[in-house]
Amino acid sequence: MWKKIGLIILTVVVVFFIATITVTILQKTKQPEVKKVAVAIDEDKALNHLSQSITFQTISYDDRTKINFKPYDEFLSFLEKTYPHVYDELDVKHINDYSVVFKWKGQSSDAPIGLMAHYDVVPVAKGTEKNWEQPPFSGIIDDKYVWGRGTLDDKVGVISILEAVNHLLAEGHKPAQDLYLLFGHDEEIGGDEGAAKIVAYLEKEGIHLRYVLDEGGVIVEDMMPGVSESIGVIGIAEKGSANATLTVEGSGGHSSQPKDVTTLGRLAHAISALEETQFPSDIQGPTKEMFTYVTPEMSFGYRYVFANQWLFKPIIKSILLDKPATAAVTRTTIAPTVLTAGDKTNILPEKATATINMRVIPGDTLDSLKKEIEKIIDDNQVQVHVEGEVASSVSKTDNAAFKEIQQAILATHDNTVTTPYIMIGGSDAKHYQDVADDTYRFLPIAMEKDGLERMHGTNERIEKQAFIDAISFYVTLIKNNMN
Ligand SMILES: [Zn+2]
Repeated sequence: MWKKIGLIILTVVVVFFIATITVTILQKTKQPEVKKVAVAIDEDKALNHLSQSITFQTISYDDRTKINFKPYDEFLSFLEKTYPHVYDELDVKHINDYSVVFKWKGQSSDAPIGLMAHYDVVPVAKGTEKNWEQPPFSGIIDDKYVWGRGTLDDKVGVISILEAVNHLLAEGHKPAQDLYLLFGHDEEIGGDEGAAKIVAYLEKEGIHLRYVLDEGGVIVEDMMPGVSESIGVIGIAEKGSANATLTVEGSGGHSSQPKDVTTLGRLAHAISALEETQFPSDIQGPTKEMFTYVTPEMSFGYRYVFANQWLFKPIIKSILLDKPATAAVTRTTIAPTVLTAGDKTNILPEKATATINMRVIPGDTLDSLKKEIEKIIDDNQVQVHVEGEVASSVSKTDNAAFKEIQQAILATHDNTVTTPYIMIGGSDAKHYQDVADDTYRFLPIAMEKDGLERMHGTNERIEKQAFIDAISFYVTLIKNNMN
């Protein structure tokens, strides 16, 4: 009898292992085959161009009246002087004075593509200037780096795309399809005067793009447990940004005889309920897709866990929820940012409001978020109002466009694999949803470990080789377009 039970347990265990290990072994790589390419670039010349581009202080401010447009004009003249061949051969159109659209006529106009970038930069935070190892607008080139604001975000995009086109023109290349270069001038403050106006122009001209490629994901090391290669993360969507305003109104009164629950107390209670509960998290949409790309590249132990999500999902979720950056790809996040109540120390405020900024994953709507908040707070004295933007559409990965981007990354970067993902920040790409079949977000830069902190922070810089490889990426991508 015991022997029989033992045998049954043993059989179940063996079958379980065979099944889960088979699933693990059968994980097939989703990285396309490529031949490595070497693009002969005049490196010193290109590095100097990037360096010079940094010296123009094209700083955008949320308060648009503070923007000094003189450096913007000078930057555009610098481009014209630096890339005369590009300006001669391509049609150039300035949109809303400072954004630029280049059109390189191809052999066909059926399925044009657009390469995007922006040349405005964020300001250097007051008081941090002295922490820079090189002045932020110096563009200094040393043994290993080019320094300054915009070397990562995103003059590097503008300059490497122009270098690539310049290189291909010199080679006598003619694109298979029309190619558009789409350079915005106000990405850092939302793109309403740049990208949005370019899109209006494209719509008016009846131009519909097969895809656009904007900045976004980069090539990062140690991103995923069990993957030894660097990972090129290609944004196929970006989260939305919406605000919930919570309002509590009461009778006020003097602070010498308060009620047990004040308007402020009630509001505080609602906020802590939201923080304690959080929105539901799940491995779904672009995040689920990311794991189908990275799992086959993992070492056996991790691959075993990630390939058998039906069994290990709770563990995987708890790993992701452990860090804010990875938690953010599993759910809509909540961040209380603004509180307004009271202006006198001895008066109970009649009204208290809180703003909760939410970064919205695909699938959540303003209405569903409002309902979820009301459910969590569970207090009908708290009024909830939600407004803002939901997530972008999710672009395809099973098409030629995504594969071309993957191939260009793999052909120009060693020890690298690729994956789709959802961007948790915003980009100009969201404006293009109606004029392009797909919108991708990827900047072909192999990032230093702390590069993402440098990006809007102190000591922004780029490794020289990373910039040269970025030019090779764009050369390869343009050459392979529809070929
Ligand atoms: Zn940017």
